[in-house]
Amino acid sequence: MIMLATPNLTGRESQYLQQCVESTFLSSIGPFVNRFEALCATSFGANRAIATSAGTTGLHVALVAAGVVRDDLVAIPSFTFIATANAVAHCAATPWLFDSDKASWTLDPALLEETFEAELSRPDDGKPVHRPTGRRVGAVMPVYTMGSAADMDRIVPIARRWGLPVIADAAAAHGARFRCRNIGALGADLSVLSFNGNKTLTCGGGGCVIGNDAAQLNLVQHLTTTARRGPAYDHDMVGFNYRMTNIQAAVGCAQLESLDDYVTIKRQIASRYAHAFADLPGCMPFPTLDSEGSAHWLSGLYVNAASDAQMKNIRQKLLEVGIDAREFWKPIHMQRPFEDAPTTPMHITNRVWNRVLTLPCSTHLREDEQAIVIEATRGALRAEKV
Ligand SMILES: *Cc1c(COP(=O)(O)O)cnc(C)c1O
Repeated sequence: MIMLATPNLTGRESQYLQQCVESTFLSSIGPFVNRFEALCATSFGANRAIATSAGTTGLHVALVAAGVVRDDLVAIPSFTFIATANAVAHCAATPWLFDSDKASWTLDPALLEETFEAELSRPDDGKPVHRPTGRRVGAVMPVYTMGSAADMDRIVPIARRWGLPVIADAAAAHGARFRCRNIGALGADLSVLSFNGNKTLTCGGGGCVIGNDAAQLNLVQHLTTTARRGPAYDHDMVGFNYRMTNIQAAVGCAQLESLDDYVTIKRQIASRYAHAFADLPGCMPFPTLDSEGSAHWLSGLYVNAASDAQMKNIRQKLLEVGIDAREFWKPIHMQRPFEDAPTTPMHITNRVWNRVLTLPCSTHLREDEQAIVIEATRGALRAEKV
């Protein structure tokens, strides 16, 4: 089986894990956690990074640190992994779901601007109010969906005009650049990365909150470690146990040593697929606002199929020859826990989400394996007359 995206553990992972065991530093205080945070901050062009137990917990604590409270709305794209919406719900807030644009498949800045103008009021005190629901808006959370940033040059100024913090769900955009800048330097107050097993780099599980504001990052750290003040079990807030462990960070430090190499490989894989399918009019690569800067964490095709059944047949044919080609995220507005969330019309999201075919793109994928995937995919598309 040629798997979709599995970890590449050919660096110093075992060596660092061994050091963890020998030192007895397994838990959330340890030298690898500190090193991991320093490496993350530098590689993303931000002042400081706080390591968390997962991307989801990083998103949750970032929203809390940004001042999102119960009953707030948080603007997010509907076309995202469920964790984005869950993190909002974990604050007892509600996601406000936006359509994506054609050019980036993520939060549409024009739609954001127009919907804010039409539906928000500016009270004398505090956060803007969403008139249709009477709820306050707490933050805007763009998602760097396919490994490339959302259009932060347009989204950040819109959020600022309404006095809203911006939390970037950069979970999978590890190593990306955007218009020659690092993804940690695009104007978000806080950006959150994931080190889950399917991402370009992994810690087994883990996350990281990065940013530039010292007070805000101190608050994130405080909240992730039970909001404890000093050694005497004095806690001044309802905190979380969200800190990354030294074991996770040991793997993460080894992985970070390969960040540049792995991102280069991801880009090569994406570019080989793009060339191999360029002549097929019924398909296109995933759109991005900055193809060169994209981290291309995931490769595959948008397939202009006539039906869901056709998509299923294509995946089935690939599976039969040992190729792990899959469907992609079902949007949040179609998910039961978020049925009642306020939403814009979903023209692009509805058209796109079930026409995505993801293809194997592990950083250890060999060229001959990729050639097999290309051959089989062309065959499956031909058989379905796409
Ligand atoms: C992976 C991912 C997450 C969640 O990260 P975990 O580490 O699995 O909790 C959140 N958002 C997006 C866009 C992701 O791709």
